[in-house]
Amino acid sequence: MLTVKDLKVAVEDKTILNGINLEVKPGEVHAIMGPNGSGKSTFANVIAGREDYEVESGSVLYKGEDLLEMEVDERALAGIFMAFQYPVEIPGVSTSNFLKSIVNANREARGLEAMNAMQMLKYIREKIELVGMDEKFLRRSLNEGFSGGEKKRSEMLQMALLEPSLAILDETDSGLDIDALRIVSEAVNKLRTQDRSFIIVTHYQRLLNYIEPDFVHVLYKGRIVKSGDKSLALELEDKGYDWIKEEVDAVA
Ligand code: ADP
Ligand code: MG
Ligand code: MG
Repeated sequence: MLTVKDLKVAVEDKTILNGINLEVKPGEVHAIMGPNGSGKSTFANVIAGREDYEVESGSVLYKGEDLLEMEVDERALAGIFMAFQYPVEIPGVSTSNFLKSIVNANREARGLEAMNAMQMLKYIREKIELVGMDEKFLRRSLNEGFSGGEKKRSEMLQMALLEPSLAILDETDSGLDIDALRIVSEAVNKLRTQDRSFIIVTHYQRLLNYIEPDFVHVLYKGRIVKSGDKSLALELEDKGYDWIKEEVDAVA
């Protein structure tokens, strides 16, 4: 699915990612953890194709293709979903019209026929139920005046509708109250399949009480300094990050 080799990335001439290596196979859930400022969001953004990042060296293959050569829209259409791809509020555009357009654009990119109004309604209803959203949101303007929890649900609904091959969730430290945790973890657990992979970025171990990752990686100073299974996340909850920092800094 995704093969990252020796990825070095700079932001405003400062090297932030310092040689990332990561292999994500179909169906795997990888958690990326690490202290604040270690480069987690930078990594997620580079994979999703956000601008402002300068790749200094290394390679990223997605389904065998050079991901770094693909534009952000191409990546999305090739099946990469980044949570908060569409965080914008669009007054005057109903959530339902927005969702219809992204579903059909996505189908077109995959060589599938556009859905007609009836099929679309059925499809959207199915996914709305899956994420536990209230249908009345479909009539509202996209994200406008949505509460934190509603935005999360809207984001998870987008993920469900787009049926990505690789979903990247960057759960920032502030965005995760207990409600949001539940919304995100339920959606991820329902959408886990044998061929869909997830990269879940989180500062806190809490989320991983609900989503059981296959692998946990700790990012520190732009490198993956430790990898393990879910027990590593438990260890981090117990002991924090200081022991890892000490280990790494002692060698440096
Ligand atoms: P994390 O998500 O692990 O908290 P980030 O990837 O957000 O870490 O940030 C890693 C480092 O890169 C930090 O030192 C941060 O200040 C810096 N950084 C990230 N984005 C930018 C940016 N757009 N401009 C300048 N510095 C940035
Ligand atoms: Mg941060
Ligand atoms: Mg971050």
